[in-house]
Amino acid sequence: MIGLEVFKSNLEALQARMAAACRASGRADDSVSLLPVTKNHGVEAVRYAYDAGLYAVGENRVQEAASKRAKVSGMPLRWELIGHLQSNKAKEAVAVFDRIQSVDSLKLLERLNRLAGEAGKCLPILLQCNAGADPRKYGFPVDALEGALECALGGEHIKVEGLMTIAPLDDAPEAAADCFGRLRELRDHLSARHGIELKELSMGMTGDLEAAIAAGSTQIRVGTALYGQRAYPAA
Ligand SMILES: *Cc1c(COP(=O)(O)O)cnc(C)c1O
Repeated sequence: MIGLEVFKSNLEALQARMAAACRASGRADDSVSLLPVTKNHGVEAVRYAYDAGLYAVGENRVQEAASKRAKVSGMPLRWELIGHLQSNKAKEAVAVFDRIQSVDSLKLLERLNRLAGEAGKCLPILLQCNAGADPRKYGFPVDALEGALECALGGEHIKVEGLMTIAPLDDAPEAAADCFGRLRELRDHLSARHGIELKELSMGMTGDLEAAIAAGSTQIRVGTALYGQRAYPAA
């Protein structure tokens, strides 16, 4: 795990990258938020983020997030799930996370709605879309997203705040830009058709955040540029 000084300089460099990307596409600096991705790093990573004034963290496993959250329970942070959620962990996920970005099936949507109702809460979610049609990625296919949105809008105990995508891994650089552009178009289309805002477009990571910001990302999810390489690869 890196030390605090390294984190601070990584954060500064990242914020400069974000600002340059915003300027390049004529966007205001504050139109893109940063979600530090603390997965596979110790709870120090969460403390660093909090001390730097960041208000949310992203994790991809329920168990790991639950254990970290318990250690920093005094810090008013928003915990966001960004990794695939198995049905049998949905109940704990509803208890641990403040928002679930990785909603990728109708079955999961229905289950989260029921569990949030049982827990007496309204759960903010994003719908994950496999906008790059990568067979190795989770997410609703582009042509299934409208059906998913309709299902989500019918759920009394969930609130759809927007869309999330992960660009295809190893393709040409244009593949990421295409994927992000497609998600942005889909959002604009669905938002107009259903008269809802779908404000959040969660897209862009360490390697492709410039392309995501150019396409209209409102939140980038960044691990490596802040904390260095993870000790083991993400599931
Ligand atoms: C790990 C992860 C990230 C962060 O990726 P980096 O390349 O380390 O910035 C972002 N989004 C998701 C869904 C992830 O699983």
